[in-house]
Amino acid sequence: MCGIVGYVGYREAYPVLVKGLHRLEYRGYDSAGVALICNDGGLNVYKSKGKVAELERYAETQDVSGTIGIAHTRWATHGEPNDVNAHPHFSESERLAIIHNGIVENYALLKAALIENGYTFKSCTDTEVLVQLIEYVQTTNNCTLLEAVQMALRQVVGAYAIAIIEKGDPDRIIAARKSSPLVVGLGNDEYFLASDATPIVEYTNKVVYINDGEIAVIERHKPLRVVTLDNEESTLDVKKLRMSISQLEKGGYPHFMLKEIFEQPKTIVDCIRGRINVEADNVILSGVIDNRERFLRAKRIIIVACGTSWHAALIGEYLIEEWCRIPVEVEYASEFRYRNPVISPDDIVIAISQSGETADTLAAVELAKSRGAFIFGICNVVGSSIPRATDSGAYIHVGPEIGVASTKAFTGQVTVLTMLALTLARAKGSIEQPLYLQMLGELVRLPDLLEDVLRLNARIEDLSKIFTYTKNFLYLGRGYNYPAALEGALKLKEISYIHAEGYPAAEMKHGPIALIDSEIPVVVIATTDSIYEKTVSNIQEIKARGGKVLAIVTSGDQTVRNIADYVLEVPTVAEPLSPIVSAIPLQLLAYYIAVNKGRDVDQPRNLAKSVTVE
Ligand code: GLU
Repeated sequence: MCGIVGYVGYREAYPVLVKGLHRLEYRGYDSAGVALICNDGGLNVYKSKGKVAELERYAETQDVSGTIGIAHTRWATHGEPNDVNAHPHFSESERLAIIHNGIVENYALLKAALIENGYTFKSCTDTEVLVQLIEYVQTTNNCTLLEAVQMALRQVVGAYAIAIIEKGDPDRIIAARKSSPLVVGLGNDEYFLASDATPIVEYTNKVVYINDGEIAVIERHKPLRVVTLDNEESTLDVKKLRMSISQLEKGGYPHFMLKEIFEQPKTIVDCIRGRINVEADNVILSGVIDNRERFLRAKRIIIVACGTSWHAALIGEYLIEEWCRIPVEVEYASEFRYRNPVISPDDIVIAISQSGETADTLAAVELAKSRGAFIFGICNVVGSSIPRATDSGAYIHVGPEIGVASTKAFTGQVTVLTMLALTLARAKGSIEQPLYLQMLGELVRLPDLLEDVLRLNARIEDLSKIFTYTKNFLYLGRGYNYPAALEGALKLKEISYIHAEGYPAAEMKHGPIALIDSEIPVVVIATTDSIYEKTVSNIQEIKARGGKVLAIVTSGDQTVRNIADYVLEVPTVAEPLSPIVSAIPLQLLAYYIAVNKGRDVDQPRNLAKSVTVE
């Protein structure tokens, strides 16, 4: 959600900034813009609604010289997406230009006060209020820009990552963060600033993550300085990036989403690497083992997450309750944080977020922390905010996920949850050794199984054509595959804009069965598991009402093949791991239907990759 890029150094800034914006496109946005201090000393802002490519077309005829600049992709929160509301925003005198990710919650009050003081506003954004406030503070106090930013931000309620440049000062960017991500890349006599490391990685692997309440003073030819709002100097913690450029490119696939679907056999290998020791018959998630006593003391586990991560959390609930016999509750982070949940110091709260920046999940973590719970994070982006706020955790290690619709992160999350449940069950002694060993073997076999499932690709591409003009879908599954059904429906909605609902198959009789007719395809996950017979009955009920069934079945299944309209066979796998396998045909189905409809698969409308505003 929203992207920030900044550059100061010896290169032409504009190409670095635009390339950086392209790298951040996956986060989701509606407008783009850039501010440069050009060679003639002018502070020039170019911005427009729409894609970065439109900004580039416009800027072709403009002066884009200069070696310092800031750039932005906006995901509108205050004011519709249009050219005027796009960032950067000027201050009244056009001396300052700002870009901002987040929401200034008290903007209306601040705006009213500024209007009383003669300030005028061009846009409807909260961001313009921020830059006007900074200019007002600087003028009335006759202070430096850094001091003005410190004073102004003390008056701001809300979330922000900002970057500001000042006309007449072609050597300095001031950047600050609270609850929105910001990272500075350290090059040789040059600096890069961005919302995440993807625009930085091709220039340097040395980065400093800015913490909440910190301001970065990024100056040409000078060491990076980071200070707090109270002007206390922070010590720099320089981290090394492990990302590579090839991970950020499509590698011959037409879309990142398809590339990421096909990466899953490898990402599962990366996810389990070093955590499963086949010789020693051991699954060890060190984040659990290092805090063994704390985990053994847990009376309850609460999992907080949003979207796809919430579906993974539901599977985690089944796994942990089954093997560890600890009660688990799964909560939408956005609900959890705004009610008054009962949390005790004996609770463990697991926060799941691909980006590690999901605003609601981060806020839920802070709430649980303040009530004394032990917090465990399951994230993908190394060094992001949630892993830094938690007591312990495990990265899913699936590499950068660029497609907005999550695929490999989902299977990585479920894999980590499986390893967590096994590690904890072993430590508790609540799992029988043969079952433990069977699951360990299944985890090791998973990458090969996923290779098998991906062979369905051509068949699914064919099948998808039947559904190009379908208006509604129903997805059903039971047990471990109920969350997989929810996830399948979500994938379809996200990228094809077709209405789809996921339901536990048995719940169908309590409402959704009224929807069944020959127009609505029902995707049923009917793999051979402990409740297979029940699922078969559900399929019969759909067929008896003239419904069309696309069933995901275990290879060799004859019963469902005889009654369903279409079947996709997946390999046999132990029931608790089956949602990882059944997720893949559903990802491919959503992908091909969206492609048939000509949708923007990697950047679907209105969606953002990491939801950094609440
Ligand atoms: N609240 C700001 C706006 O609506 C920033 C949104 C963003 O994070 O892109 O312009």
